[in-house]
Amino acid sequence: MPETDLALKRRVRKMARELAVIHPDAHCELNHETPLQLAVATILSAQCTDAKVNEVTPKLFARYPSAADYAAADRAEMEEMIKPTGFFRNKTESLISLGAALVERGGDVPRTLDELVTLPGIGRKTANVILGNAFGVPGITVDTHFSRLVQRWEWTDQTDPVKIEHAIGALVPKADWTMLSHRVIFHGRRVCHAKKAACGACPLARQCPSYGIGPTDRAAAIKLLKGPRVAEIAEMTE
Ligand code: SF4
Repeated sequence: MPETDLALKRRVRKMARELAVIHPDAHCELNHETPLQLAVATILSAQCTDAKVNEVTPKLFARYPSAADYAAADRAEMEEMIKPTGFFRNKTESLISLGAALVERGGDVPRTLDELVTLPGIGRKTANVILGNAFGVPGITVDTHFSRLVQRWEWTDQTDPVKIEHAIGALVPKADWTMLSHRVIFHGRRVCHAKKAACGACPLARQCPSYGIGPTDRAAAIKLLKGPRVAEIAEMTE
């Protein structure tokens, strides 16, 4: 029997509540204090871990405190500073262009999706990260983890990020969008990995249509869990 829309919505909301219990520490892992810093960190996070970005940004933020500082940056100096994050030439270009575009608009990072996506280096995913985490405007961040998990959970069969965003947006209350994004991404990083999902140690196993794509033996699965809350997550499946 195919799942009705109502049954799907109920299942999604139940899983979303459980995700909140499994990952109470979910948050934006890119260190930042201002919308500009978050925009910069998000641009640097392309094809790079958040931890590596966080190693680079303290010096970068101190050197370039405003949009005008990015606009006027010495390209070679900036490239050197952000080199560890990879694709540093493209990223430097994006940061300098972003600075210039922001200066043209008065220097502040805008607060709407429509305005944000017109800025250099800012796609829809980045814009939603900024909206949700710097401005408190609900946003769904569809990254590789989010796409993979919502498909495994059969929350949607869409594969295009924008269509996924709309599909999931229709299933959960808007106020929950930002935190749900963090929690799904945490689950993807810590439990439901692209390869070797830790099914046997996953607290969502009972509601997951893809249970069994990874090891179901609990001891083997526990070894696949990652992050600082391995013991707590494993305990939930005892
Ligand atoms: S049961 Fe397996 S596939 Fe389902 S969410 Fe957990 S780890 Fe992922």
